[in-house]
Amino acid sequence: MTADGTLETTPAALEVHDVHKWYGAHRVLDGIDLTVRPGEVTVVIGPSGSGKSTLLRVINHLEKPEAGHVSVGGELIGVRRGSGGRLRELSERALLAQRSRIGFVFQNFNLFPHLTVLDNVAAAPVATGRLARPEARERARELLTRVGLGDRTDAYPRQLSGGQQQRVAIARALALRPGIILFDEPTSALDPELVGEVLSVIKDLATSGTTLVIVTHEIAFAREVADRIVFIDGGRIVEQGPPREVLDTPRHARTRDFLAKVL
Ligand code: ADP
Ligand code: MG
Repeated sequence: MTADGTLETTPAALEVHDVHKWYGAHRVLDGIDLTVRPGEVTVVIGPSGSGKSTLLRVINHLEKPEAGHVSVGGELIGVRRGSGGRLRELSERALLAQRSRIGFVFQNFNLFPHLTVLDNVAAAPVATGRLARPEARERARELLTRVGLGDRTDAYPRQLSGGQQQRVAIARALALRPGIILFDEPTSALDPELVGEVLSVIKDLATSGTTLVIVTHEIAFAREVADRIVFIDGGRIVEQGPPREVLDTPRHARTRDFLAKVL
């Protein structure tokens, strides 16, 4: 049962509730509401500076919102309800445990340069005590095979192409079996000929039922994988819906203007 006595259904994979974020006097997120169901693939599009990265960073509490809150799998992120219902900050340790259930793939891969590919993927499950080192390495090998890098486990990141590094980063995000994976422009740092191999790995995840939130400018890809497209401008969701609606028959002039520039 929920607090108000209604019957509980499966919690949303992600719920962003009335989130506001400022940097100084600059309002970056202006009342974002977003619900993502388990297994759903949400693609977030919007102009540069519209708040897309900030939204992803608020979701895993790398940035604290000034107002509103985020839940993943029904659990508040970064805060808990104290007495009287007020939100209190979680301890750093509790926050780290929560973050380990939210995968994050960055634009610039962010791999550990001094670790092999295998250890990049095996590191977090060992560090968090989820797996013993031999099991973590075994699982890392499976994940690297899944992203097509089963033969590069002993390489160091600098020995790989950008597309290969990003596939390692995706394997690493999967290593903790997160309930949701957030991608922040995963292909925008890549040479054009390397984009396809990364998108194809993400597509595999999308069809395997993993819950994904993907910020990207790859509109053709978005059309193919998204259950829902969310268009953000000026820190607000301007419109959202299935790809056919948002991409082919956008209701707002701002969406049309943006699409005219990127398509
Ligand atoms: P997007 O990812 O859509 O390009 P961002 O979320 O990165 O947009 O940024 C939204 C706005 O917030 C931009 O105007 C950016 O300059 C500003 N911003 C982002 N991060 C910071 C920060 N750490 N300090 C101050 N301003 C920031
Ligand atoms: Mg960004």
